[in-house]
Amino acid sequence: MSNTIAQPMNPMLPRTLFNADHQAFRDTCRRFFETECLPHDERWQEQGHVDRTIWNRAGELGLLCVTMPEQYGGLGVDRLYSVILLEEQARIGNSSLGLALHSDIVANYLNNFGSEELKSTWLPKMATGESVGAIAMTEPGTGSDLQSMITSAVSDGDDYIVNGSKTFITNGVLSDFVVVAVKTGDGDKGAQNISLLLIEAGRAGFTKSKTLKKVGMRGQDTCELFFDNVRVPKSNLVGKEGVGFIALMKELAWERIIISIMSISSAESALAMTLQYTNDRKVFGKPVASFQNTRFKLAEMRSEVQIGRVYVDRCLELVLKGELQPDAASAAKYWCSDLLSRVVDECVQLHGGYGFMLEYPIAKLYIDSRANRIFGGTNEIMKEIISRTM
Ligand SMILES: Cc1cc2nc3c(=O)[nH]c(=O)nc-3n(C[C@H](O)[C@H](O)[C@H](O)COP(=O)(O)OP(=O)(O)OC[C@H]3O[C@@H](n4cnc5c(N)ncnc54)[C@H](O)[C@@H]3O)c2cc1C
Repeated sequence: MSNTIAQPMNPMLPRTLFNADHQAFRDTCRRFFETECLPHDERWQEQGHVDRTIWNRAGELGLLCVTMPEQYGGLGVDRLYSVILLEEQARIGNSSLGLALHSDIVANYLNNFGSEELKSTWLPKMATGESVGAIAMTEPGTGSDLQSMITSAVSDGDDYIVNGSKTFITNGVLSDFVVVAVKTGDGDKGAQNISLLLIEAGRAGFTKSKTLKKVGMRGQDTCELFFDNVRVPKSNLVGKEGVGFIALMKELAWERIIISIMSISSAESALAMTLQYTNDRKVFGKPVASFQNTRFKLAEMRSEVQIGRVYVDRCLELVLKGELQPDAASAAKYWCSDLLSRVVDECVQLHGGYGFMLEYPIAKLYIDSRANRIFGGTNEIMKEIISRTM
């Protein structure tokens, strides 16, 4: 019983974003996650990475880079298709496969800022799963303060020579290339010193650590990257030299909405599994769900998750129109990931001791969900961004 997927609860307010085509796509995604990911996830967590073949399978089913233009192997569809993938992945509690990072972050950098050559070389391979992408900003010495990064790319004729290291890189071990934030300028130009450079795995001097041992998300091949005099052609620049920071800031708003979607969908999933569990579990001769404390806790959580869902859906309407502002995205990211932490903690409590056993999906969600408050910019940085607009 512990590993069954709870039926999602009906929303209090109907959602208005999706049409029949979206629904058909949702069915395909649901089948993929339920039949091709869920049965392997425990093994993926033990080995510290997904099977490489699952990327090819996702590509075969048309689930990678869906919003990319058709000429580059995508489906050319709107971002709601990405949202559906995120929601369905969260529904089964899969944190191993870095699909969104590959399709909705790395591919976006290439498509929005990359040269024609980079786009036509990499995007079609990303869409089939032949190539897996990663993005590397964070360094051992700096994460929040990106302008303090030290990984350097020094000009040498038509090439750069790259030195430095990056850490906590999602999809790192299995990645075939990484879009790396590097310092191409010197001294006091601040943000204008930063550029994005595509670096292929296998270039001389580019090495990776093993999967980092994390508290949660154990099937995700997060790792460190090391660059020791790596020679990279200047044609691998993603965007012009010196515009890396601006590109990062542009894409980070969408990345924050991705984390909000993951957070709200995971909170809905936590709630659904807790409703089911507390109805099944009997204490003092009656279901846990029958105690007033349980009913009130569930009612409070359902209300808050619903309110969060409406805010995220409204942000998505603005994403579709290209009008979402960074402060609204930051508010969504911090509030929804905080909400997820509160909800999951309460749901663990309502499971009693079983909530602490990894065999139960709520326990896995408890350890997996913590990172949402840290990655994509910490929640403290989100509040900085919001406060600057006041
Ligand atoms: C599972 C996981 C996956 C990740 N994937 C990637 C990836 O694919 N690519 C990538 O580049 N990075 C990735 N990261 C890194 C992540 O984005 C950083 O960890 C994050 O931005 C925070 O940086 P830091 O760890 O250096 O913390 P620090 O910047 O050292 O922050 C430490 C503490 O100080 C606080 N703080 C910092 N500045 C301020 C301030 N101005 N005001 C108040 N408080 C402040 C922070 O909020 C935090 O609480 C990942 C991280 C995790 C955990």
